[in-house]
Amino acid sequence: MINMLPPQVHVFVRDWLSSNNVLLKSRDGHVLIDSGHTSHAPLTLALIASERGTGDAPLALLVNTHCHSDHVGGNAAIGQRYGCPIAVPAAEAPLVERWDGKALLYEYCGHPIDRFHVAHALAADSTHVWGDLEWQALSAPGHDMGALVFYNEAHGILISGDALWQNGFGFVMPPEIDADALPATRATLEMISRLDVRVVIPGHGEPFLAVAAALERAWSTLAALERDTLRIARYALKANLMFTLLDRRRMALDELPAYLDEVGLYRELNALYFRLPPAKFAEFVVGELEKSGAAKRIDGWLAPAQG
Ligand SMILES: [Zn+2]
Repeated sequence: MINMLPPQVHVFVRDWLSSNNVLLKSRDGHVLIDSGHTSHAPLTLALIASERGTGDAPLALLVNTHCHSDHVGGNAAIGQRYGCPIAVPAAEAPLVERWDGKALLYEYCGHPIDRFHVAHALAADSTHVWGDLEWQALSAPGHDMGALVFYNEAHGILISGDALWQNGFGFVMPPEIDADALPATRATLEMISRLDVRVVIPGHGEPFLAVAAALERAWSTLAALERDTLRIARYALKANLMFTLLDRRRMALDELPAYLDEVGLYRELNALYFRLPPAKFAEFVVGELEKSGAAKRIDGWLAPAQG
């Protein structure tokens, strides 16, 4: 697999709490794409400075595929360590500038992060030379309406963020919260299908070559979501709470009703789709996470099923 990527492309495969970090090395300056979660910033810094990373060399630029907390959480720490400029998709630059915790899904989803500042807004369809390779920034709305993916045509490499994973893609907002999200997801998968992608470096999970099979799975996931709005709401609910659970490692079951009632996204999803009193809603959400095998109850706590 790894020799499918040119030698200057280094992927640090992380986990579900932290996005992968892609380091594009060049004598003209190293460029990092995505910085992981705030709580993992020390590990992210260590990986960048490792032998496989930049060593002692500076970082010329930090780029983000989109501004969700698991992709930009290390921005502040990296900016501080390296003094490098930070570039985000143009559609999100104003949101970051005014630190819109709702649009960026920080406070709104219970995912607060360290604040950072944007130096460059990356326009869709702009071209950049990073790691001595030419990358096209392509608009990839859906999971995140301002997201970009980065495509190197010569090697058929797609840095896909959360627009395409080996098995699916990042959660999508249900139509009552964002009517454009699902149609945009379809349009983005169509756009990716038209590219000559031979290797995908996703935002989460190992890089993969079986692009057609991944697109097939993404299409069928999308079709299932399109058939059933409730399924979209359940996916958004589970993905976001699981993320917080991975960060905190455990959450007290008896505090969950109040927590879910406090955090905007959960309160809104409940009001729109489930209409349950807080305790019943918490019971429902916990049941959903247990059913999917993601979480379990232990002595009054909710915890990730693994680790
Ligand atoms: Zn995301």
